Amino acid sequence: MKDLSLATQLVHADKHLNPNVDGAVHAPVNQSVLFEFADAQGIVDAFQGKQAAHVYSRSSSSTTNALQNVLSHFEQGVGAVTFATGMAAISSSILSLVRQGDHIIVSEYLFGNTRSFFKHLRQLGVEVSFVDVTNVQHVVAAKQTNTTMVYTESLANPMTQVADMAAIGRFCEQQALLYIIDNTMSPNVIFSAKSCQASLIISSLTKYISGHGQVLGGSIVDTGLFDWTGYANIQPLYQVADKQQWGLTQIRKKGLRDLGATLPAASASTILIGLETLSLRYQTACDNARRLAIHFVNHPDIKAVYYPGLAEHPEHFLARDLFNHYGAIMSIELPEGVDIIAWINRLNLVICATHLGDTRTLALPVEQTIYFEASAEEKSKMGINAQIVRLSIGIESIDDLIADFDSALQGIEGIQ
Ligand SMILES: *Cc1c(COP(=O)(O)O)cnc(C)c1O
Repeated sequence: MKDLSLATQLVHADKHLNPNVDGAVHAPVNQSVLFEFADAQGIVDAFQGKQAAHVYSRSSSSTTNALQNVLSHFEQGVGAVTFATGMAAISSSILSLVRQGDHIIVSEYLFGNTRSFFKHLRQLGVEVSFVDVTNVQHVVAAKQTNTTMVYTESLANPMTQVADMAAIGRFCEQQALLYIIDNTMSPNVIFSAKSCQASLIISSLTKYISGHGQVLGGSIVDTGLFDWTGYANIQPLYQVADKQQWGLTQIRKKGLRDLGATLPAASASTILIGLETLSLRYQTACDNARRLAIHFVNHPDIKAVYYPGLAEHPEHFLARDLFNHYGAIMSIELPEGVDIIAWINRLNLVICATHLGDTRTLALPVEQTIYFEASAEEKSKMGINAQIVRLSIGIESIDDLIADFDSALQGIEGIQ
């Protein structure tokens, strides 16, 4: 498998990496909750960690394992754990790994629900510093003696800030800090979080990886780069023989088993099918986004375009060094006075919805929706104003997309 191209590996990974039942090319959907042990000693050994076996499907099943094998291979990791949603992957993993009194450094440009989760963590006695991750110096300045972890997204939405990930990775390595990257917005087709020394890679499988907006899921992959023996929060029970598995073992027990947000088997199977076409879909979406960004930048009725592929984007050069494409999300800012709700209603092909990473192109007014709970100060810090429309670019024909946007932009001064 390893010498095949990524696109080929994604198509064949399920069959190559997973037990081949009856010659089936897809891992079967195993819905059983319970697993029988003919010899009762078997279940004792499984509970005591002496023998790998499924005991109850909240913790594991052959279908979720099949997806985990493929995701771990895709990220060149040493293992993966899947969850019911991206948020479950984030909250369950972080809750498994932090302790009261820890200090963690997180990006101030986070997916809104993740930001809300980290704010809640403060109430549980974890110190959280939100910092501007576009420059490693802010991370360095925020470090305290009790800092245990740095958490960032690769490419933020809606304003497309790019984190200084390689430099942050070097800093974390030097300081022995756990380094977590949420790579949902720039899957391994365009960006390898492992190449920036990420310890753990989180993905919402709901987005590009499954790709079609009909399944929820989340995952965490351990890249094998972090030395867990130096991490104080791993309980003695989870300090298993293979030291690379300490973190995922604790996440499986404290996060998945105890918090219980398990990915259903049918969802795991759907996600595996989506993953087969990830490379194809994502390349097309990225190409469309680049073409549209250039079109918008030259359009007299668009005030600003936020897309890292543009030379004027503040992190353009960072993005150029880190990614081999610029992703498929962008935001556009319409002129003051234009009613953006009325403008979005003029789009015919493009769908108004709060989702990302779909085959379909989506538009969302952000200040009025996902930033509804944010204070004026938070909004201004993040560069959010009432004229911004977030776009998640899909895989439609570029000509049809340009035609739809152009027709909505026609006579835009009139829609006050
Ligand atoms: C959507 C998203 C999540 C949450 O994923 P769900 O599957 O919707 O729970 C987390 N992080 C990022 C960057 C996202 O875009």
